[in-house]
Amino acid sequence: MKVDHLGIAVESIDKALSFYQAALGLELAHTEIVSEQGVRVAMLPIGESRVELLEPTGPDTPVGKFIAKRGGGIHHLCVAVDDIDAALGRLKAQGIPLIDETPRIGAEGCLVAFVHPKGTGGVLVELSQKMTRSEAAAGSPAEASPPAD
Ligand code: ZN
Repeated sequence: MKVDHLGIAVESIDKALSFYQAALGLELAHTEIVSEQGVRVAMLPIGESRVELLEPTGPDTPVGKFIAKRGGGIHHLCVAVDDIDAALGRLKAQGIPLIDETPRIGAEGCLVAFVHPKGTGGVLVELSQKMTRSEAAAGSPAEASPPAD
């Protein structure tokens, strides 16, 4: 397992890049809009992990509400797993409250599911499993396929 990324809620990706890219020196690898979650996402690799900047597409989105309530800041911790269904099953069996009982498609076509902060010591935790493009197109992960990387 590894930390796939740290999600950071920001009012403006462009403003945040003046720190993370220009001042700190990280490279901007990728941006996209995940409309299902109401966010614009920017990924900046740092070692084996990434910083994920999350800019809400509107005030009524989860990240928009988060910023209205607490201001910007660390929003979630994302852990990469090889088998997200198995990971969710393990958590469920231990009574950990889940936001997503079944995985959905997140940034970069990954399968993602969120674990409720009530069960994690106050941190929103995202599980993420890489999918290949063909699996993403088919809408579900193939059985017993090796990790995409
Ligand atoms: Zn994330």
